[in-house]
Formats: sequence, C-alpha cells, structure tokens
Amino acid sequence: MTGTNLSDTFRHKGLRKKLTETVRQKGIADENVLKAMEAVPRHWFFDSGFLEFAYEDKAFPIGAGQTISQPYTVAFQSQLLQVKKGDKILEVGTGSGYQASILYQMGAKVFSIERQRALYTKAKEMLPKAGYLVKTFFGDGYKGLPAFAPFDKIIVTAGAPFIPEPLMEQLKPGGILVIPVDKDDYQIMTTVEKQADGSFITRQHGHFRFVPLLGDKAHD
Ligand code: SAH
Repeated sequence: MTGTNLSDTFRHKGLRKKLTETVRQKGIADENVLKAMEAVPRHWFFDSGFLEFAYEDKAFPIGAGQTISQPYTVAFQSQLLQVKKGDKILEVGTGSGYQASILYQMGAKVFSIERQRALYTKAKEMLPKAGYLVKTFFGDGYKGLPAFAPFDKIIVTAGAPFIPEPLMEQLKPGGILVIPVDKDDYQIMTTVEKQADGSFITRQHGHFRFVPLLGDKAHD
C-alpha cells in the first residue's frame, strides 16, 4: 500500500479494463462483480515498488507472510456471495483490504476482521482515505463478529481446516457463507446456505489455493 499516493491514471484504468476482461473470459458472469473490479484501483493495495504487478491475474505478497488473493479468486468468491445492495457482509481475513473494497463498491455494508496487527492497522488507515468505508476489526475470525451478527453473507479469504460453527450461527436465514476448506495441499471452495428452517445446504465449487486461516489468538 502506498498510503500516500492514491492516484489512478489512464494507464492504470486501461490495465484494469484488460484484467476485468481476463476475469470475464475465465468464466465470471456477474456484471456487478466485473463492474466493481473495473472500478477499484487494485494498485492502491500494493506497496509502491510493486505497482506493475497489480494488474496481473495473480496473488501477490502483502507482508506478514500473507497475500492479496488472485483477482479471479476475488471475483469467484464475490460471485458466489450473490451480493445485493445493502447486504451486511462479514469478511474474515482483511489482508490488504482489496476484497472488502470490492464488496463495498458493490453496495454492501462490509465488516472485516484480521488477526495480524500490522495488516489490520495498515488497512484501517488506508481504506477510509481511498473512500472504502469498511468497518475493520482486529481479532480472531474463527469467532466471527457476534456483536454485529447476524450477516446476510460471510466470506472467508484464508484456507480453513473446517467450517467454524460461529460463522454458520452468525448467518441470517437465507444467508450464504463462502469458505475455502482444506483438502490435502489445496482448498475446496465451499458455500453453505442457511435455510429458513435453520438447516444448511453445502455445495462445492472447485479447487483453489489460499494462505491458511490461523488459529488461537490474534497476533501483534
Ligand atoms: N482478503 C484479503 C486476502 C488476505 S489473505 C485481501 O483482499 O487482500 C488471508 C488473510 O487472513 C491474511 O491477512 C491473514 O492474516 C488473515 N487471517 C488468517 N487467519 C485469520 C483469523 N483466524 N482471523 C482473521 N484473519 C485471519
């Protein structure tokens, strides 16, 4: 993150249009997701020395051993969330804040929780400057955010060894949880939909690779 230089040139806009087209060609069809991806300057979420990497369809290191997810993965998870304007969404794993900004750009009210202090602090300072009014929290995403529950949608952006019970509890009836669940050395993108009667329907959506969802307490 530059933190200071939030400029967006014609060159950046052009690269973003191309990236959005790539993501569309890879199968993303939700026009609202594609519009948000074209609107949010991904290079703002990179350290200034690495701006040229921002518009490749690749994950990239953001410090503290973490990565900003690949644009296609961000789009895929966002599409599975079926975001509607005004949806109240919890994200586990703020990281750079890019995924949260995409959801905000789509008209959601976004709550995002991060367990690494340095990443939390960076995102908390940068997001309002960039105009993405995401509510950021420092803590353990396995517990969700009970004080603000229930949520219309919940997205986990790290590979989880299992589906945390509190996240299922904190979904509204009709709500959707999108979570990559560990399987060998990759994750299976999984959706869990809470039915009106409180039961759950689980579906699988292919293989992805994420950094791990870490347990225990939040880290300074
Ligand atoms: N959504 C991010 C991608 C971040 S990578 C983005 O758009 O940039 C996954 C993030 O999950 C990392 O920042 C990692 O520190 C965080 N994380 C890992 N375990 C966590 C936990 N238990 N609670 C909250 N965040 C966690």
